[in-house]
Amino acid sequence: MLRYETIPVTPFQQNCSIVWCDQTMEGAVIDPGGDLPQILEAARRLGVELKQILLTHAHIDHAGGTGTLSRELKLPIVGPHPADQFWIDGLRQQAQMFGFAPAEAFTPTRWLHDGDAVQVGQCMLAVRHCPGHTPGHVVFHDAETKRAFVGDVLFAGSVGRTDLPGGDTDTLIDSITGRLWPMGDDTVFIPGHGPESSFGHERRSNPYVRGT
Ligand SMILES: [Zn+2]
Ligand SMILES: [Zn+2]
Repeated sequence: MLRYETIPVTPFQQNCSIVWCDQTMEGAVIDPGGDLPQILEAARRLGVELKQILLTHAHIDHAGGTGTLSRELKLPIVGPHPADQFWIDGLRQQAQMFGFAPAEAFTPTRWLHDGDAVQVGQCMLAVRHCPGHTPGHVVFHDAETKRAFVGDVLFAGSVGRTDLPGGDTDTLIDSITGRLWPMGDDTVFIPGHGPESSFGHERRSNPYVRGT
């Protein structure tokens, strides 16, 4: 069964998650934006053997630590969708713009597309392409435990911003209603920032998507 622990990293308090299979204790880091010592300490404490890095999208608070972590631990980089290539190319400018330490460049080992699957130990995460916040944003869904790691697509009480390059509000809402809601109202999601919630709760109360 998939287990996870979320560690807020970077000045943006981005929810980096360590996910792992409790049968094999093999795991992955989703969105290592920075603060790598904290992430590695958590993995050690949990007894998780990190095998790969998963990226929801290539904004610096999510992807900033990827190059260094991948090089130091020799971890493959899985995701995001290729439409986020321009954000990866722009990591240096993103670091300057948001006051982050310079981010090491990287190239994904494997790009992800809608309908792909990513194996973590004996667990299988389904990949959905959810553009709108960025064009190459993906989310990771574990149907067995009804958990979804949604990055900056949806938050408790809000949705991802769409005013940055490549963002589009209608596309974002379509991603949420067409690709997140079918996972079920009882699915708990781990957003890129802030507390967890369920899709059902957001459908009832989130002013951006209420009643959709
Ligand atoms: Zn973002
Ligand atoms: Zn973010």
